[in-house]
Amino acid sequence: MIVMLKPNPERKQLDAFLSWLNERGMTVHVNQGEYHKIVGLIGDTSTLDIDMIRALDIVDDVVRLQEPYKNANRKFHPNDSVIDCGGVKVGGGNFQVIAGPCSVESEEQICLVAREVKKAGATMLRGGAFKPRTSPYSFQGLRDEGIRLLLEAKKETGLPIVTEIMDLSQLDLFDEVDVIQVGARNMQNFELLKALGHTNKPILLKRGLSSTLEELLMSAEYIMAGGNEQVILCERGIRTFETYTRNTLDISAIPSLKELSHLPIIIDPSHSTGKSKLVAPTAMAAVAAGADGLIIEVHNDPAHALCDGPQSLTPEAFAKLMVGINALRPFAYKREVTA
Ligand code: PEP
Ligand code: MN
Repeated sequence: MIVMLKPNPERKQLDAFLSWLNERGMTVHVNQGEYHKIVGLIGDTSTLDIDMIRALDIVDDVVRLQEPYKNANRKFHPNDSVIDCGGVKVGGGNFQVIAGPCSVESEEQICLVAREVKKAGATMLRGGAFKPRTSPYSFQGLRDEGIRLLLEAKKETGLPIVTEIMDLSQLDLFDEVDVIQVGARNMQNFELLKALGHTNKPILLKRGLSSTLEELLMSAEYIMAGGNEQVILCERGIRTFETYTRNTLDISAIPSLKELSHLPIIIDPSHSTGKSKLVAPTAMAAVAAGADGLIIEVHNDPAHALCDGPQSLTPEAFAKLMVGINALRPFAYKREVTA
């Protein structure tokens, strides 16, 4: 980190600033520039509050040279992380497709969809038990019964299950869940992230609706700082001025996150687009750009789905897409490692 001071800082304030930095374990180099003093900091600057330093009377500007996240940073962990999700590996060349309905609706529905997506080549089953809905009058999910039904579908098909937690109070219900999903709306629920950092479950962390990549990685950092390094990042579309699609899929998030972090990155083309017709082309684009996997909504009867029917694929459309994905996979972009 480099701190540029205002011209002629008051000696007392400068000394106080320098000893404050020393107390925080920083090695400090003060250089006299033509007009300004420039303070170079060496050490773990991730614990320093850059905004607080910038607000000091004697400080003109601050430049961070190192990202504020450590555990998620590719610089300190050059090899791709591989996350074991109930025996299914994601990352480091392991590509997986998670598929299933937006919400678990009944035992018949979840078991039928689980069988169909497995047959088509999906390796994990998704299904919401706790649903974050925009309206309080919409279907809110079957809650604990939904998790019980997912476990039934897992028993029948062997597919590991991925389902969303909305609140810390639900954590005990997730004992047998293979991957805990943190939804876009909870990406910055820091108390939830901290608690998940103390579990030994893989966490599928979705990007917030208006979050930057750095904010997503800082949320991953919250989980990892607690000791749980099993984080999978998920780009699910962000809010832009475009209204034709539900969100805007940020394809460049794939190579960008791969450059910044060693964590696997998967794409959700369903919530990115909101339209079933757009799911296959965007899924293929994500595969081509080097994603480590996809999470796709599939429903046996999209027209009557209790949640997100318009963006859900039928099992037939999903099976067709899987054929395309498998054909494209060998040509997917691979990050170039420079020495
Ligand atoms: C979901 O996956 O069902 C979901 C609600 O996704 P998101 O948090 O990305 O909106
Ligand atoms: Mn959904």
